[in-house]
Amino acid sequence: MLKTSLTRPALRSARPHHLQALPRLVNRKFSAFPTVTRTSSLAAARLLSTYTPRCSASATATTSTPSQPDQPQPLPEVASDDLPIISQDGRQVAIGWDTRTWSRFHNIWLRDHCRCPKCFHPVTKQRLFNTFDIPKDITPLRVESRSAGLEVTWPSKEPHVSLYPWSWLQRSSYDPPLPRKDSSSNEKILWGSKIMQSPPTVTYEEVIAADDRGLYKWLSNIYKFGFSFVSGVPATPEATEELSKRIGFIRETQYGKFWDFTSDLAKGDTAYTTLALGAHTDNTYFTDPCGLQLFHLLSHTDGTGGATLLVDGFYAASIMKELHPEAYQLLSRVRVPAHAAGEAGSLYTPAPPTGYPVLGHDAVTGELVQVRWNNDDRSVMTRLEAGEVEKWYDAIRVWNKCLTSADSEYWVQLQPGTAVVVDNHRVLHGRSAFDGKRRMCGAYIGVDEYRSKLAVLSEKFSPGAVLQATKDLPEANVNGRSIWNPAL
Ligand SMILES: [Zn+2]
Repeated sequence: MLKTSLTRPALRSARPHHLQALPRLVNRKFSAFPTVTRTSSLAAARLLSTYTPRCSASATATTSTPSQPDQPQPLPEVASDDLPIISQDGRQVAIGWDTRTWSRFHNIWLRDHCRCPKCFHPVTKQRLFNTFDIPKDITPLRVESRSAGLEVTWPSKEPHVSLYPWSWLQRSSYDPPLPRKDSSSNEKILWGSKIMQSPPTVTYEEVIAADDRGLYKWLSNIYKFGFSFVSGVPATPEATEELSKRIGFIRETQYGKFWDFTSDLAKGDTAYTTLALGAHTDNTYFTDPCGLQLFHLLSHTDGTGGATLLVDGFYAASIMKELHPEAYQLLSRVRVPAHAAGEAGSLYTPAPPTGYPVLGHDAVTGELVQVRWNNDDRSVMTRLEAGEVEKWYDAIRVWNKCLTSADSEYWVQLQPGTAVVVDNHRVLHGRSAFDGKRRMCGAYIGVDEYRSKLAVLSEKFSPGAVLQATKDLPEANVNGRSIWNPAL
């Protein structure tokens, strides 16, 4: 879910792309296998909000709520005195959540997803059952509607009964996909320069507290806004390294593991100079750019300048998509090769070497998931078609204008004691030129480590609808992890 923040706290809600119009029954007859009209989720997908900001600094954004068509609502929790109606034909089981909403599950899918301890290891959360032992034409002996869920008895030498909780089936429904009960912690909030009025911040004390609540708050900020400050950090590399490790392993690269550096060009990269750096993401030359970057200014003496620049790449992309859809499409399609070649001992290029588009999308949902942009690290553009060369240069000019507009740029003068973490797949960073002596420290953290920690803490502090509905089922939880966690 994406939200846009122009004038916090008045947040504007965007239409979640996955909540496309649900198929409605054409035939209202109460039938187990109703005829429905399906809409294409991709065709109906809307990535971002419908407001119309401008790339120029002079324009103002509207503050009215965009009108939205009827949004399908998530289904209510199944009540034990009003169980779903179930029905089966030769290949599928149909579940009637209400008279208009049905989910169909194929027999082989249901058998493959049995979560009994014989089929699914309750501790390791790995499949134990051999999928390829399932007869192609497997058909349940019996299907029954129980208060805990759908109970299926399978034909086998020994009786085998599977139970699928209702909430889990709703969440897992693929025919059709159903609207999800996303909690507010799943919302992304897009922001422009006005974020300066109240930037997401947690305190060092909160983040290092053993109960992990502050850590969850920190990671939730990063998820929502793409960055978060941590205030009150002791201005030492040791404390900053400890802070980084709260999230996960530090990712070692050609720049080292935990960096502690000055503008001495110790590494062959402009980061190690006093030059101004435009808004960019790091590691465009990696196959897998780092997920998070943490940095902390430890000292700045005998000089001025060196303000930090943050730009929400998703926000800039949303503006470009509204105003320049063709440019947006080009940046989403054309792959950009990149390199890191300033060190004699290394020469990095991504695999595949044709690189990745500036705007990366989830191939299934169409959702924007990654911004990769560092014009300085771009390699030779040999894969452009002749007819699109000028269009592509126009498109990156528009993109650059969106990134560098006063409406997008958030400038902040960091002080020793305030660290910042940036989601390197979304928020671009840069700095103004400086003089004097500046000492920075920081680290990269892999995207998988960050997402893993956030998932663990979400399960603990903000369990979603499925985890709440299944928490009392027998044998559901081992080691604090439920077999019904929708991530599994
Ligand atoms: Zn089983």
